[in-house]
Amino acid sequence: MTIYEKAKSLVTASEAAEHYGLTVNRHGMALCPFHDDHNPSMKLDERFHCFGCGEDGDAIDFTAKYFNLSLPEAAEKLVNDFGNGAELPASPAPPKPPNPAERCYNVLLQMEVQLHRQKRLTAPQTMDDPITTEYAKNCQMYAFIVGLADLLSNGTEQEKADEIAYLTGGVLDHYERVLQREVIVYDDIF
Ligand SMILES: [Zn+2]
Repeated sequence: MTIYEKAKSLVTASEAAEHYGLTVNRHGMALCPFHDDHNPSMKLDERFHCFGCGEDGDAIDFTAKYFNLSLPEAAEKLVNDFGNGAELPASPAPPKPPNPAERCYNVLLQMEVQLHRQKRLTAPQTMDDPITTEYAKNCQMYAFIVGLADLLSNGTEQEKADEIAYLTGGVLDHYERVLQREVIVYDDIF
């Protein structure tokens, strides 16, 4: 498509004239800017024609004469003023969902962080404090999740593939729900 075709596909002479300040009445007539006009004698639609001075043409001709531009300059101006720049930018690609391995890492990491916090909060504070069942459970859950994460990082390709299949088969969905809550409990994991 040439710049002329592009400009003409974007805007009619009437739309260009109105955009640039002419008042076009309901009969499609306006005061001609190209001669000393006192009664609207320019007819505008797809093209324009003045019955007073004889000026005639399309949106590009109008714009060129109105702004004292060459035809290519006028076409370019129309494309810029009516086309949001030359070509409309392609709509941005939708964000890609994370690949399965990445999603597994992310969820396991969040679980690890949360369980580490729970472990710390329930840990005995002194040598004399008893080891509570709660703390023991937190340790077990933490070790389990760390084990999963470790296998995902350091396992063989087969082990990784098996684990990703296991996690994406509903386990991750479950973990994501669990992470919405304050505390992860034993039954969530085992
Ligand atoms: Zn005229």
